[in-house]
Amino acid sequence: MEAKKCCIENLGSHVGEHVDVRGWVYLVRQHGKNLLFITLRDGTGFTQVVARRGISGYENLANIHREAVIRVVGEVIKDERSPYGYEIRAKHADVISPSSPTIEEEYQPDSSPEVLLNKRHLVIRGEKTSSILRYVAKVLKYFRAFCEERGLVEAIPPLITRAACEGGATLFPIKYFDETAYLTQSSQLYLEAALPALGNVYCIQKSFRAEKSRTRRHLTEYTHAEVELAFIEFNELMDFTEDLVIHIVQRTLEEDERILKKLGVDDLKVPKKPFKRLTYKEAVRKLNDEGVPIEEGDEIEESMERKLVDQLGEPLFLTEFPASQKAFYFKRKNGDITLSMDLLVPHVGEIIGGGMREDDYETLLLRLKEINANIEDYQWYLDLRKYGSVPHGGFGLGVERTVEWILRLPHIREACLFPRLINRLTP
Ligand code: ATP
Ligand code: MN
Repeated sequence: MEAKKCCIENLGSHVGEHVDVRGWVYLVRQHGKNLLFITLRDGTGFTQVVARRGISGYENLANIHREAVIRVVGEVIKDERSPYGYEIRAKHADVISPSSPTIEEEYQPDSSPEVLLNKRHLVIRGEKTSSILRYVAKVLKYFRAFCEERGLVEAIPPLITRAACEGGATLFPIKYFDETAYLTQSSQLYLEAALPALGNVYCIQKSFRAEKSRTRRHLTEYTHAEVELAFIEFNELMDFTEDLVIHIVQRTLEEDERILKKLGVDDLKVPKKPFKRLTYKEAVRKLNDEGVPIEEGDEIEESMERKLVDQLGEPLFLTEFPASQKAFYFKRKNGDITLSMDLLVPHVGEIIGGGMREDDYETLLLRLKEINANIEDYQWYLDLRKYGSVPHGGFGLGVERTVEWILRLPHIREACLFPRLINRLTP
């Protein structure tokens, strides 16, 4: 039977027509002796197929298992009652590839997190999980669109490096021929180097951190969307950051209604500018007022971040962290107060970290010495201050954390195709 190949996402523009749809069987239900209901998935979406005994190929369908691959030719019907909005009345069906009945034993929706991670290659086919992963792609698209709109150029920095940028504790060493190299913790230093060549730049790259603590927001390999801007001041950097976050939420509300609904998110709102700002000092005081035992100089831990931002219910900037808590390259406002900012959001805490970079050669050299860095490894980085240094700053946004926030996921691993965690290297 001749019919037009069509993906499930586009069924809406073929109502009343015959289409040819190919995909994986997500669910089969026999209704009486003569009727089969099949939920079909093709990557672009899910739809219901109704097949009656008597159509050509019915026998082929009658014995299939979940995840079999089939081709269905049939008429597209609009159906308000169906969760998918449309259904296909099959006229003909073929099995392209069978599946084994053992699929039912692989995992259950209520299996332990361990089992679900072991079976991640199958779990990602589920309705909710595949929606989350589709949304990850949307966040990348929105981030890119925003940066392009602002005239930034995308750069591709190396992931194998010789030196640390966030400090030694979370470095992954790798054998690099006869030397030791490291997987990068951030692409920032290379984006800084790209600035005088390309102008304002951004990248979407993996960053690697040997995180030994188990939290709901740490992966050992994550997607880092980074921005570096020249000729800006601290306030302008925060302004840019606000606009980016607003852009992502706005586009989500415009384009991803179905995904939000699938995940049960019904209260997403575009945050208002300017976001609330608290300096580190103010935050410590506020926490003290609320009975949290934290002293000036201590790290504001995840639970404390959550306390600050959850009750606010909207994004919150923490600024001006003490130098002891930030990497060597942060520019100082005065004394040991850095021009740094973390953007916190409810449910997750920090999703963005950034600030102004030290742009004075001598000061940067001093900072490197303070941390006992091997100056030779950073000579190229120092050169950036020697040959045409400008005031500049930037930030990094954790893509998986952003998705965890917007879709209210219980754990960052849900926002990752194949999460890498402390004891997790497969699949
Ligand atoms: P945290 O204090 O939560 O460990 P960080 O201060 O180490 O975060 P930055 O070095 O500022 O984070 O990195 C920039 C952004 O990268 C963070 O705001 C966060 O969104 C993301 N990020 C950092 N570490 C991880 C990780 N292990 N897994 C996932 N995302 C991360
Ligand atoms: Mn960290």
